[in-house]
Amino acid sequence: MKRVFSGVKPTGHLTLGNYLGALRQWAEVDQHRADSLFCVVDLHALTVEHDPARVRRLSRQAATLLLAAGLDPRLCTVFVQSHVDEHARLSYLLECVATDGEMRRMIQYKEKAARERERGGSVRLSLLTYPVLMAADILAYATDEVPVGDDQAQHVELARDLAMRFNQRYGHTFVVPKATLPAVAARVMNLQEPGSKMGKSDDFGPGIVYLLDEPDVVRKKVMRAVTDSGREVVYDRAGRPGVANLLEILAACTGGDPEALSAAYTSYGDLKKDTADAVVEVLRPLRARHQELCADPGYVERVLRDGAEKARAMARPVVDDAYRAIGL
Ligand code: ADP
Repeated sequence: MKRVFSGVKPTGHLTLGNYLGALRQWAEVDQHRADSLFCVVDLHALTVEHDPARVRRLSRQAATLLLAAGLDPRLCTVFVQSHVDEHARLSYLLECVATDGEMRRMIQYKEKAARERERGGSVRLSLLTYPVLMAADILAYATDEVPVGDDQAQHVELARDLAMRFNQRYGHTFVVPKATLPAVAARVMNLQEPGSKMGKSDDFGPGIVYLLDEPDVVRKKVMRAVTDSGREVVYDRAGRPGVANLLEILAACTGGDPEALSAAYTSYGDLKKDTADAVVEVLRPLRARHQELCADPGYVERVLRDGAEKARAMARPVVDDAYRAIGL
């Protein structure tokens, strides 16, 4: 059976982008076909200015949302990264095979570092080394496949490179993983800024649909989405990014194809209305399940404790092997 690993950062409230780009595939496909682990990667939330109490709260909320999205602890392992020491242990070894040049070339590092500097803040060293810790997250579990949105593809590529380099230099130790991207909605864009992705830690609130938004809030956000000056509904990602984004969201929610759907619409208003309805419907069961889970915090606690135990048992032998191989 294939091993699958993926994660979500508790840096903000989870968005429709997280759901369509990742969580849904984890719940509907991956947990049924593979031996899979899904993780709230809280150490990654410390790479930018953070409030300790907020990170703790968001970690718990993210874990609850993973379960609300349909992850079933009888089928997969759900846990929090910092509960398993092996991630940090392995990360240091991988820092010893990665180079600072390849870290500085990472697109997300460049963008996030530039944003921090613009705000007058300093850039934490961990922001630079973040992709190495992510490689450790993946490699510690002998992962075959990493289901992620398009924005994480470069980081999974780095994990591949580091695994191959380590294996070549110190003997076969790691499984070489690969990314798997969803067919549609691999990059959901911000509804107000269709040039940038819908990211949970971004500042464009009105353009982000959060998984726990009330239905009327979802409708308002979608109805106010920035479209283009044209009138025709055509699927053109480069020329008409706002409309293309709506078509992709609608396609992802209804199981259709964005190009084919474009032919069914003659006005942006109708497209927005149907997209809003489709998003509300997709989020309805998730919101209901989230409410049930919030009423039973002991359950979430138990799932995370058992998950960490299972994860630790899987990661330890791999990381121990890596320590031996590298000469420790
Ligand atoms: P964020 O950028 O929201 O902080 P994370 O880094 O926590 O997201 O990513 C969790 C998962 O969600 C990853 O697999 C990532 O690729 C996916 N993802 C995040 N944003 C989007 C988006 N706008 N569209 C599609 N997938 C996304």
